[in-house]
Amino acid sequence: MCLSLLLKRHLWLSLVALCWSGVTAAETVVLQLPWHHQFQFAGYYAAKAQGYFTQAGMEVEIRAGIDQQGNTTNPVEEVVFQRADFGVTRSDLLVHHARGLPVVMLAAIMQRSPAAFITLDKHNITRLEDIGNEPVSLPLETNKPGEVIDIEVIAALARAGVDVGELNNRFKHWNLEALQNGETKMILGFASDEPYILERRGYQPVVISPMDYGIDLYGDLLFTSESSLRTDPELVAAFREAVLRGWEFALNNPETTARHILLNYPVRNADYDLDFMLQEASQLRDYIQPDLIELGYSNRARWKRIMQVYREIGITDPVDLNRFLYTPAKSAKLSTWLWPAITTLAVLLSLIGWLIWTRLRLVNKVRHSEQRESQFRRQAETDPLTGLVNRRRFNLELEVGYLRARKEQNALSMLMLDVDHFKKVNDDYGHLAGDIVLCSLARICESVTRSTDVLCRYGGEEFAFMLPDTDIEAAREIADRLMQRIHADEVACDADRIRYTVSIGIAVLHQDDQDAVDLLRRTDRHLYAAKAAGRDAVYASAEPGAHLSLVRDA
Ligand code: GH3
Ligand code: MG
Ligand code: MG
Repeated sequence: MCLSLLLKRHLWLSLVALCWSGVTAAETVVLQLPWHHQFQFAGYYAAKAQGYFTQAGMEVEIRAGIDQQGNTTNPVEEVVFQRADFGVTRSDLLVHHARGLPVVMLAAIMQRSPAAFITLDKHNITRLEDIGNEPVSLPLETNKPGEVIDIEVIAALARAGVDVGELNNRFKHWNLEALQNGETKMILGFASDEPYILERRGYQPVVISPMDYGIDLYGDLLFTSESSLRTDPELVAAFREAVLRGWEFALNNPETTARHILLNYPVRNADYDLDFMLQEASQLRDYIQPDLIELGYSNRARWKRIMQVYREIGITDPVDLNRFLYTPAKSAKLSTWLWPAITTLAVLLSLIGWLIWTRLRLVNKVRHSEQRESQFRRQAETDPLTGLVNRRRFNLELEVGYLRARKEQNALSMLMLDVDHFKKVNDDYGHLAGDIVLCSLARICESVTRSTDVLCRYGGEEFAFMLPDTDIEAAREIADRLMQRIHADEVACDADRIRYTVSIGIAVLHQDDQDAVDLLRRTDRHLYAAKAAGRDAVYASAEPGAHLSLVRDA
């Protein structure tokens, strides 16, 4: 065998790792999973255990999506808000992207989705059409910004002609005992998971796959945020590459990997033992399809067909696949064993040069990356004139505020403010004076907010507030305080003393709201009602279509 074999990736990556380790601590990145630790995520644990992440210059923390108390963490929210660098979810990622969340799909780990309807033989349901009025426990919501939307379920029921509004759906949680005792007769699960456990407990599971209804989506996907990709494309590429190597290892060494998971990660409960993991590993091969398709590959035409499925169930937001899909750089496949010794020597020399260069670059990079990243994030989310957050950041905060208010059943108010006849301020005193007025107004707005409120410059002379745990009365008090301070404000610009007024609209989250945008639109309507009523006024109403009450500031 010729010397060039020594140059194979494994060896030189180890060399790189050795070289780095003396110089600098590896970068720590966080991977957020959507579920408990099990073989479903084997490739990630294997990449860590086999040192693939370390060789790529990073330390990886792998976080489960559900803790021992059953609290869930949702990967899309974690990644969008940069509490995690990478996440795993299913095809619902495309919906979140279409609805404006800046996420990028890096690798399709499962070519098909194992999500399936699980029932028992004794419940006599063999097709979705048989459900009738039987009690079922299915996640059916499509308006959960950032959260996992179980698209497979909703689309398959639609194809089966089942009206989800008519279902006797008691969706609370995933519960095998309730399925066993007939309290519920169908749950959503993974074909690679619950059926085996049910069988082991002496029941006869029946699996109805969305694929039986022509719904063929990707299963688990690896993703990151647009900002991570922009800030550190090398890290994203290296992480993806290490993950795919990890999967290759896990699929070729299922028992080693399963034992490693059991020893190193807390699993859900005693059902998730070695036998379970080995059957899970063997079942998942059908969904990952490693023998047919290159690990991580996804196909544009197929994503277009998946978009078609979303349209069928009424999700029609347009998608830009160029932004959504990550394009990995092609690694050239060199037939190294044919190289003559002289070429090998040349490569070896360039490798040494490259190692020295990388070492220097990394020392520099680690020193500056934190600083650069936070500066970049601040710039991308801040309005340069007033220093407030911009509309992009506000919309994300609003989506999450909406989710929290829904989950915790708390009030959520929104307030929008627009300067009256601002064009005239610019015309009379000049654009610079207009800018000074906007800054003065921004400081007044800040003076009435609490630490939990989010205030932004929404547009030119328009400001928006998200007020968590605030009902209509409390929001109105904030508006009153704002009005008083604005009436007292006299902005000095050269010899001029500029006074101005504003109009304010207030709305409160209502149970009929489908998403955060409903609240936003209503607040905007109330703002224009205040304008229409003559300006220098507050319009506030807690009801979506109710008679609007005008509160004129004295
Ligand atoms: P209305 O009471 O209906 O809101 O009247 P308006 O004149 O305030 O409304 P309009 O939306 O027609 O005009 C807003 C003006 O705000 C137009 C634009 O020149 C000005 N503006 C927007 N951004 C800035 C800015 O950053 N600085 C300054 N000085 N002016 C701005
Ligand atoms: Mg305006
Ligand atoms: Mg205006």
